[in-house]
Amino acid sequence: MLVLQNFIDGVWRDANSRKTLENFNPATGAVYGSIPDSDSSDVADAVAAAMKAQLGWAATPAEQKFLILNKIAEGIDAKREELAMAESMDQGKPLWLARNEMIRSAQNFRFYATAAMQFASESHSMEGKAINYTLRSPIGVVGCISPWNLPLYLFSWKIAPALASGNCVIAKPSEFTSVTAWMLSQICSEAGLPHGVLNIVFGLGGSVGAAMVEHPKVKAISFTGGTVTGRHIASVAAPMFKKLSLELGGKNPNIVFDDCDFEKAIQTTVNSSFMNQGEICLCGSRVFIQRGIYQQFKERLVAEVRKLSVGNPLQEGVRVGAIVSEPHYKKVLGYLTLASEEGGVFLTGGKALHPEGLEGGWYIEPTIIEGLTMANRCNTEEIFGPVISIMPFETEEEVIELANATEYGLAATVWTTDLTRAHRVANALESGIVWVNCWLLRDLRTPFGGVKNSGVGREGGWEAMRFFTEPKNVCISLQ
Ligand code: NDP
Repeated sequence: MLVLQNFIDGVWRDANSRKTLENFNPATGAVYGSIPDSDSSDVADAVAAAMKAQLGWAATPAEQKFLILNKIAEGIDAKREELAMAESMDQGKPLWLARNEMIRSAQNFRFYATAAMQFASESHSMEGKAINYTLRSPIGVVGCISPWNLPLYLFSWKIAPALASGNCVIAKPSEFTSVTAWMLSQICSEAGLPHGVLNIVFGLGGSVGAAMVEHPKVKAISFTGGTVTGRHIASVAAPMFKKLSLELGGKNPNIVFDDCDFEKAIQTTVNSSFMNQGEICLCGSRVFIQRGIYQQFKERLVAEVRKLSVGNPLQEGVRVGAIVSEPHYKKVLGYLTLASEEGGVFLTGGKALHPEGLEGGWYIEPTIIEGLTMANRCNTEEIFGPVISIMPFETEEEVIELANATEYGLAATVWTTDLTRAHRVANALESGIVWVNCWLLRDLRTPFGGVKNSGVGREGGWEAMRFFTEPKNVCISLQ
């Protein structure tokens, strides 16, 4: 049994209550370890440790911060295989995908290690009257809360800029996927990160996460997760005037015009629909296909999706693994029942799968639904599983209206070889991110986040460094 402990003030310890939660392997449904079931007293201890370390870390020269963060990146690289195995087992994702995510987790630290060295602030001159310069100081103690779908990838994406900009961090991964965060604590310790600079508290969102949001000394919250949780966090944090970055859900449109590069659009649509069992906030779950190629595109997509092998995440060649947890598995299956009730027709999947020898695991067949409209809940609510809905459209105006017809606005994909149309549609979509003729191509310098109910604020590049710092303007008279 793998027993995880909190990482507070540089040491590993059980929850103060000594309580634990069971940790499940989604591939088998079996318990294989435990995580601390921490509460507000553990969070209070973490905050006290962070406050003690804060001034020292803020004053640490940028080059020293760079060296430590870069060493963390090297530590992740050195343990890539071990981390990938752990992530796959904890989350249910195929091993090959977990390996890719470990590469990205190291890149996150490396990217923000260099940001620590490069970050600068502005000065504004007032024509001989005065000069303004803007200081950017760390906020102090900040909270980072991450979800279960891309565990270390998203955990590191928050922690790295928070540390690079001189803050001390209290971090909480999802209770469903805590193992790689715990392994990261060992890597950080070996890299020489001073005690108390990063504190990781494991447990439930409703206790640990809520205690972080409520703690008066935690001055900013960077949260990635569901829209309902984000709304609740905002309602608690906003009256305390905390800085908030909320990266929330999506119901992303994937728009395929008649003139697309057909092969590329098919292959990428298979990935953008079903990668990580569809549990990526950026997956395109509503696929709009222009009438002229609808039938042909549908038939090819169905044929390609039928080829996807679903099963043991650790087995070579498996493209779709297990759903992260039993509650989420039931939620996705509930949406499949609803889709039938709403008049949807399953072109593939539509049900659970029970691979031989893994009958206790949580598997769902990649599912393509036809026949839903934008009046149906399955087309407007985030399912966050291996489920897409395909729909025909006639005109550009029509598809823009359909694409924008949800409360979400995280990401969109557009397939067309008409350059002018690509620009026009990208401009008209209510979305924080638009990919044209590609998907999930990420430059870490670009702003990342959503509009409407998909979030508030942006991560990535300088956006994250600005979020994790407070600007102070100093105006000096020249007269
Ligand atoms: P949740 O909102 O359920 O949880 C996210 C995190 O918040 C978890 O660590 C959770 O802990 C914690 N949490 C839960 N309740 C509270 C609370 N009251 N106060 C503070 N923290 C709390 O999301 P999921 O983990 O289910 O993740 C899936 C969601 O994340 C999807 O909606 C997806 O779209 C979104 N997402 C958005 C991304 C983006 O960049 N926009 C990227 C990736 C995912 P615990 O798990 O222990 O309950």
